[in-house]
Amino acid sequence: MAFAKLDSLRAIISLLYPSACAICSAKVDVRQYLCHQCEAKLVRIKPPFCSKCSEPFQGAITNPFDCANCAHRTLYFENAVAAFRSRGLARRVILNFKYGGQIHLRHLVASWLFAALDDERLRTREFDLLVPIPLHPARERERGFNQAALLAELLAHQVAVPLRMALERIRYTQTQTAYDRAERMENLHDAFRLRKNMNVRQLRVLLIDDVLTTGSTLSECARVLKEAGAISVHAATAARA
Ligand SMILES: [Zn+2]
Ligand SMILES: [Zn+2]
Repeated sequence: MAFAKLDSLRAIISLLYPSACAICSAKVDVRQYLCHQCEAKLVRIKPPFCSKCSEPFQGAITNPFDCANCAHRTLYFENAVAAFRSRGLARRVILNFKYGGQIHLRHLVASWLFAALDDERLRTREFDLLVPIPLHPARERERGFNQAALLAELLAHQVAVPLRMALERIRYTQTQTAYDRAERMENLHDAFRLRKNMNVRQLRVLLIDDVLTTGSTLSECARVLKEAGAISVHAATAARA
């Protein structure tokens, strides 16, 4: 009886933590998603970086600073944090997760998101609410899921902070990559709004997305949340372009 229980427990653990690397299928320790070789290919974002958008700076700088990108525009979030660069292997994992039908990779990507919270700008903060960046309903139907919502669900569980789909995307925007920065902001204007019956008044919000590119989407969502009375809006993403 006790053995049967132990076996089923093992079965559950191996489901939650497969013993093969998510990329190359090499054997890994329990609770590891990647083998050491694959893990070593991830590019961790280390200081010095922009205090606002976490863009790494090549060179020696010790004072807090804002990058040239952030210094000349209004960003409505307090800061946006990511632990890894969205390059090479990390980028491939995220693409496979979002577009390649490999939804199981959400656990790995969520672990990067979790790593982002171990940032000195976020570590000691308390949040009242996690809010994923919404997709337009048409795009969500097309993809079958909202990647930010899947990641936020896993994170909410780990950090014990409630999750609400507080925002909705009301404009179907073309993919942002074809636009320059000014066009992106224009493209995003009025793209989001607070959902009916949602109340974020007096709340400290943590916005969640998979990848931070220019920060325009996060900023636009932060603007809507602050207009609706949120006290503060920080942002955490799994990776940064
Ligand atoms: Zn591997
Ligand atoms: Zn910046």
